[in-house]
Amino acid sequence: MPRRVELHCHSIFSDGTLTPAELVSRAVKNGVDLLTLTDHDSISGGPDLFSAAQAAGLDVRLGIEINCAGEGAADRVHVLGYGINPASAGFAERLTEFRERRTVRSKRIVESLRALGIAIEFDHVRSGAHETLGRPHVADALRRLGVVKSRKEAFERFLIKGKPGYVESMGPSPAEAIALIRDAGGTACLAHPQTAGKEIELDALLSSGLQGLEVYYSGHSASQVRAYGDYAASRGLLVVGGSDFHGPGTGREERLGIEYSDEAAGPVLERLQ
Ligand code: AMP
Ligand code: ZN
Ligand code: FE
Ligand code: FE
Repeated sequence: MPRRVELHCHSIFSDGTLTPAELVSRAVKNGVDLLTLTDHDSISGGPDLFSAAQAAGLDVRLGIEINCAGEGAADRVHVLGYGINPASAGFAERLTEFRERRTVRSKRIVESLRALGIAIEFDHVRSGAHETLGRPHVADALRRLGVVKSRKEAFERFLIKGKPGYVESMGPSPAEAIALIRDAGGTACLAHPQTAGKEIELDALLSSGLQGLEVYYSGHSASQVRAYGDYAASRGLLVVGGSDFHGPGTGREERLGIEYSDEAAGPVLERLQ
């Protein structure tokens, strides 16, 4: 019987708008059999996720998404990590360091927006965040100030590369992100390869230790799913998939979960233990 599996979504511990417990109830309503929370640079959603899941009788896992930076198109590489041992040496410290760098970046973005005459302050951004900061929190602050109507509009007018509020990402290189996940006992997978774009050398990421590819993704067309699936098969990569749900009001709020056949679910479930 096919299983509905969600391997990519966000909570208030990064740039989502639902608590982990609210994600669990949504997952149950959406018919999801297995939910994995993958917040950006944070695993702090774990306690709420696991207690809500136990009460609801839902199978859950805790993963991570690390947004990268560096040469070329490295800032479009997001690495998903599954099956991590959160207690492994140095892991939590590295995440704290990444979050501190995000704070520095957010302050710089606020400065560049202020230089445009927008009366935004860093406190407006921080007050809307629970833990990990990101451009979506700047977007939300701009929305609360009445400058834009949606996260999408904030990204398009101010926050993407080439726009006046853009500040380079300060994340780790793809190789560092992959190594961090693997050193913590996890499986490192490339998120939404279509967003990463053609410039990303998938084979180079494989040399850095990448183990899986997000073949199924809410933004992938049927032909993209086929092409990435063929690539994953040719390189022996783990095929993973998710919606990248962020919650109500984010513009990324599709139904949780992707239908997996038994054949496809087997290897994934094995690696998620
Ligand atoms: P950051 O990690 O601060 O660079 O912000 C990137 C995050 O913003 C991504 O991981 C997405 O979750 C989100 N994002 C990117 N583009 C958009 C968009 N057009 N609308 C809403 N959210 C977006
Ligand atoms: Zn996000
Ligand atoms: Fe991502
Ligand atoms: Fe994501």
